[in-house]
Amino acid sequence: MKKAHYGSINGPMVEPKEFFDKATPEHRKRGIFPYCDSCREVVHLYGVHTPNPNTTPRFDHADIAPDADPLDDCILANRNQRYRGLEPDGWDDSRGAVMRKRFFEDDNLAQAYAFCLNLCRHGNLPKVKFLSMLNRADRKRVWAYVDIPLWSIPYVLLTLENFTDKKKGYEFHFSFIKPVGSNIAALWQNPEECKIVKLFSSNSKVVETSDNPYPVSEKAILDKAGDTSWIRPGFLQ
Ligand SMILES: [Zn+2]
Repeated sequence: MKKAHYGSINGPMVEPKEFFDKATPEHRKRGIFPYCDSCREVVHLYGVHTPNPNTTPRFDHADIAPDADPLDDCILANRNQRYRGLEPDGWDDSRGAVMRKRFFEDDNLAQAYAFCLNLCRHGNLPKVKFLSMLNRADRKRVWAYVDIPLWSIPYVLLTLENFTDKKKGYEFHFSFIKPVGSNIAALWQNPEECKIVKLFSSNSKVVETSDNPYPVSEKAILDKAGDTSWIRPGFLQ
């Protein structure tokens, strides 16, 4: 990770060298730590003073607990292949609070659920799994991704779980086809260059169906969600 908050989760974003220069080599003793912009955990300074000139200074996350679900890993920890290229430009928590409220309005929530359900296929998205996606989105503060539009959120949700095709008996997950080197903001900055793709979890090959890969756009969401009048308000409670 190239930047972290200095001294507290609200501290300014600094690069490793900047952190080191300001906090000094005694920073631990002085109780000054860098914090991750995403998970807000303390991260570790690495490679600022090293004899190896090939080491790029960075901030590293603490080791993930051995029994932790890899999908619960921090989006900025850079160690889960599934989350590569899915980090946002940053987080905007005050906007995020508004986005989250709008997302949970009955119509928007029903549309997000119907979209995810129809891409997974009926029977493959139990309510409990959808709730797990929402919980994970809360922990990753997806609603606060800088500039995320409401329509892009269900696409992000689909990347936060593993699914089983109940009829055919295989595991699958979702990923994105998008410009090389882009982050998740490509979904709303260059939607025409992005697609969501369903992959077999066993070998990461594309599941071949007529709607896979599927376009990324507000219209594509509406088309796939279809009629949501069958979803009663409060269906998640
Ligand atoms: Zn983190």
